[in-house]
Amino acid sequence: MTFKDLGLKESILESISKLGFETPSPIQEQVIPYLLNNDSDIVGLAQTGTGKTAAFGLPLIHLAEPKEKYIQGLMLAPTRELCVQIATELKRYSSMMEDIRIVAVYGGEDIRKQLKELDRTPHILVATPGRLIDLKERGKVDLSKVKYLVLDEADEMLNMGFLDDITNILSSTPEDRRTLLFSATMPKGVKALADKMLKNPIEVLVSSGLESTENVKQYAIFVEEEKKFGLLTKFLE
Ligand code: ADP
Repeated sequence: MTFKDLGLKESILESISKLGFETPSPIQEQVIPYLLNNDSDIVGLAQTGTGKTAAFGLPLIHLAEPKEKYIQGLMLAPTRELCVQIATELKRYSSMMEDIRIVAVYGGEDIRKQLKELDRTPHILVATPGRLIDLKERGKVDLSKVKYLVLDEADEMLNMGFLDDITNILSSTPEDRRTLLFSATMPKGVKALADKMLKNPIEVLVSSGLESTENVKQYAIFVEEEKKFGLLTKFLE
């Protein structure tokens, strides 16, 4: 299976080939063609390092319409770091495409800079829930035409107390949007959120993630407890 087989457009194939992507990861093989060729929602049980961001990011870039100047894709993530990471990845994937604007907004940073960024409407917005609500209340984001909504690390978002914010945000998006929910674990709260927010989703399960991805080397060294920290520091150095 290649990325071309999955149905992505040439400009995306070009940029990911430059990034060294050769074969799709299991979650990408499942999610990409599904997003491109079907229209129901997706629940993905997947941890980081499985290629999850590219699994939803590549099709969303493929589906974005540059000429339509409104927020088409919205991604919610629990932390500033994850927002920046998602936006950075998406920008890399769309580097060979005409003007797809991707903006990240998150708490913990001067809001003025983000307000300025929003002066030109993004096609894809990546956001932490709290900051997005703030911007929404200031009338700076219009979510009324969102076609694709991604909830990333849903379990973490609930752990951080974002349930009300998520509910509030989703109520500002169209009923007929497509919703994707990704989570590393599926506790009751996440299941309930998925049941409430998604319509007949297909479920995608990616192996536990305990095995390392191709990009990560793993080592195990057996050591007495009291020597563990010292050795770890030495190893990291
Ligand atoms: P996750 O969201 O599961 O943490 P990402 O999609 O961000 O994973 O992928 C992790 C890293 O691996 C990123 O740097 C990404 O560019 C790279 N990557 C993702 N998919 C592939 C692939 N199929 N081939 C090579 N590299 C990939």
